[in-house]
Amino acid sequence: MTTCKAFGACEAHADLTPMHIERRALREHDVAIDIDYCGICHSDAHAVHNDWGTTVYPCVPGHEIVGRVSAVGAHVTRYKPGDRVAVGCLVDSCQACPSCEGGQEQNCAKGPTATYNGKDRHTGETTLGGYSERIVVREQFVLRVPDALDVRYAGPLLCAGITVWTPLRRYGVGEGSKIAVVGLGGLGHMAVKLAVALGAEVTVITTSASKADDARALGASDVLLSKDPKAMQAAANRFDFILDTIPTRHNVNPYLMLLGRNGVLVLVGALEPLEAVHGALLVINNRSIAGSLIGGLPATQELLDFCAEHNVLPDCEIVDVHEINTAFTRMQANDVKYRFVIDMATLHDVKTD
Ligand code: NAP
Ligand code: ZN
Repeated sequence: MTTCKAFGACEAHADLTPMHIERRALREHDVAIDIDYCGICHSDAHAVHNDWGTTVYPCVPGHEIVGRVSAVGAHVTRYKPGDRVAVGCLVDSCQACPSCEGGQEQNCAKGPTATYNGKDRHTGETTLGGYSERIVVREQFVLRVPDALDVRYAGPLLCAGITVWTPLRRYGVGEGSKIAVVGLGGLGHMAVKLAVALGAEVTVITTSASKADDARALGASDVLLSKDPKAMQAAANRFDFILDTIPTRHNVNPYLMLLGRNGVLVLVGALEPLEAVHGALLVINNRSIAGSLIGGLPATQELLDFCAEHNVLPDCEIVDVHEINTAFTRMQANDVKYRFVIDMATLHDVKTD
C-alpha cells in the first residue's frame, strides 16, 4: 500500500479539496502509473454532486488518465516502467462473459469496475480516480499511448473520445453518411472531429449561436440552432444518424424529426427520464432511438491509434489542480472549449492535512 495526494469531494455539495488516499500494493497483473494529465468529464461533476444517487464519499473523480508506468506486477507482460500509458473509465471486469470476451468490457455481465466510484472486485473498496498522483490498474485495462499523440491532449480520448467513437463505428458512419451532433461540448466536439476524419458530412445542432464558427472550424459543414424552429423544420428527414450528447432531461422529438429513413438517434448524455417521445416520429421513416455506453478496451486502443495516425486531438484548456472547482463551475455553465485537462504535476506541491 502506498499513500499519494489526490483531489476529491467529501460530500455532495462540497468543493473538491486536497486529500491523501491509499493505492494498493501491486497484484501480479497490476501496473502502477504516475499520472501526468487527467481530463475533466461532465460525468465527474454528476458523480461529485451525486446526480445519479450512487456516489460513495470521499469521491476522487477522473477517468481520462494519461501517465507513465512506474512499476509492474510479477506477471505483467505488456508494459514496463517508463511506458506512456492511459486509463479510461474501466479498471476491471469479469473477463469471462460474452461481453468481456468480445472486447465490450463496458457491458460486462457481472458489471464492470469503474475507475472511480466502482467496487474493487477483490476488496470491495470504492475505487478512486485520476485526480491523483498515482493509480494502480490491472494490466488488461491499461492502454498504450502512441508516440505520435501529444500526451497533454490525449486524456479526453479515454472517455469523451471513446464514448462517441463506439456509436460512430457501430453504425458505420463514414464516407457518404450525413450525421448531426447535438451539443458542442467535450463529447460533441470529439464526435465532430472523428466523424469528419471518418469521411462523414457533419452538422452541429447547438443551443449556442456563439459556437457556430467553432463548429465549422472543427469540420462541420453546417450548423443548426435548436432554438430556431424554422431552421429545424427545414432540416426534417435530413440525417442518417444523430448523436445526442445533451447532459440533462430534454425533449428528443425535435431531433427525431430530423432523421431520414431507418435513421438512428443515439443518446449518450441524459441518464434520466426523457420528455415523452412521440410514437409517430419513430414509426414514420422507421426511426429508432438507441443508447451507448463508453466503449471496450480494443475499441479504445483502436481510437488512440486512429487519432495518432490522423492527428485528431481534442481542443483542451489545461488547468492546474487549484482550478478544478472553477473548471467544474465553468463546465456546468457551458463555458469550456472544449475539455479541461488537469496538469497533475501541479498536485506535487499542494499541502494536504
Ligand atoms: P459538456 O462538455 O458539458 O457538453 C454538453 C453540451 O450539451 C454543452 O456544451 C451544450 O452544447 C449542450 N447542452 C448543455 N445543456 C443543455 C441543455 N439543457 N439543453 C440542450 N443542450 C445542452 O458535457 P460532456 O462531457 O460532453 O458530457 C455530455 C454528457 O454525456 C454528460 O451527461 C456526461 O455525463 C455524459 N457521458 C456519457 C457517457 C456514456 O458512456 N454514455 C460517457 C461520458 C459522458 P451547446 O452549447 O452546443 O448546446
Ligand atoms: Zn467521462
